[in-house]
Amino acid sequence: MPYFDREDIQRLSRLKTEPYWVTSVFLATDKSLFSKKQISLNVKNLLAEARTRLEQLQVSKEIRSSLEADLETVAQSMPSQLNSLRHPGIAILSCSGKGFLETFNLPHPPRNRVIFDPNPYLRPLMAILERYHRICVLLLSRRQAKWYQVFMGEASLLETLTSDVPGKVREGGWEGYESKRIERHIEAHVHDHLKMVSQKTFNLFKQKPFDWLFLGCEDKLFSDFEPLLHNYLKEKLKARIKVKTTDSPEKIRHEATELETKLKREEEKKAVERLVTELEAGGAAVAGLKETLRQINANNIQMLLVSHNFSRPGRFCPACRFLYLEEKTCPACKQPTTEASDIVDEALGFAMVKAYPVRQITPPSRLDHYGKIGALLRYKA
Ligand SMILES: [Zn+2]
Repeated sequence: MPYFDREDIQRLSRLKTEPYWVTSVFLATDKSLFSKKQISLNVKNLLAEARTRLEQLQVSKEIRSSLEADLETVAQSMPSQLNSLRHPGIAILSCSGKGFLETFNLPHPPRNRVIFDPNPYLRPLMAILERYHRICVLLLSRRQAKWYQVFMGEASLLETLTSDVPGKVREGGWEGYESKRIERHIEAHVHDHLKMVSQKTFNLFKQKPFDWLFLGCEDKLFSDFEPLLHNYLKEKLKARIKVKTTDSPEKIRHEATELETKLKREEEKKAVERLVTELEAGGAAVAGLKETLRQINANNIQMLLVSHNFSRPGRFCPACRFLYLEEKTCPACKQPTTEASDIVDEALGFAMVKAYPVRQITPPSRLDHYGKIGALLRYKA
């Protein structure tokens, strides 16, 4: 089962809980990094810190008691959660006032934190989605095809197809002419099979679009099959994968996620190279947090690049949503700004809302030398 997908995020971003607020809890529960005892202790400390913070929060009585009930719910569900956990992280979103509670497993450990806000805090989930691709793995032989969905490191079989293709002609069994005729007959069957596979792949794509297509098959079959793919799917065909229809789902999962990581690193590297080239040529690009925030405010971003886990406190204007490093008063509207515990998080959220592409770069990278954040711009600043 995948952890969560875009539909979940969209659904949650439309969630209405007025007049109540939502408590969003993020927990690193990676048992390979921490002992169970350590995890429970972390949770205890985190909730204690949150309770103190809640006491000081300026909110109405009904909002406060809903938030208190949220913390209670999380505290009570923890022992059983921890026993069954086999994921590196969890997110719990709760609004007791509305009877709303949802838990998501996370494919890697988040920063431990509790956020009280009128809306669910979805950024960590959005950041995870940005890192993973929805992959369709198609394994193809002359008479068989298997489709797997791979998402967030988990694989599931979607479909299998077996066509009625006769076996190959044995060497030297027939006179040349006759064997050629049979060969052609078989190849026609194979061609029909490939056409069917191509159509089926497109149907699957229409039902549930994927970002990347990985294809596992022999070279000879590839050159026959590739031209039959729908043009959309030719663009999605990201790589060939070295697995066969007969391989185990675990092997397919492993190979596909390895390949995804490799391609992702290549993409990251290319994006950083592009940024650096542009910066050095004095082109349409900026680096460093201050300059990048300025361009975000100017709505002049083509692509945002951030070193993974880079965070800095900052300020934002509640009136015009502009992001700043230290301005106490918004230069645009003269209203007082509000403290943001992590302005990079705000920037990422902003990018999600505006649908700018974001590349989270795995350190160490050349981006480290440029302030760990930068952007390719729509026009030169
Ligand atoms: Zn303002």
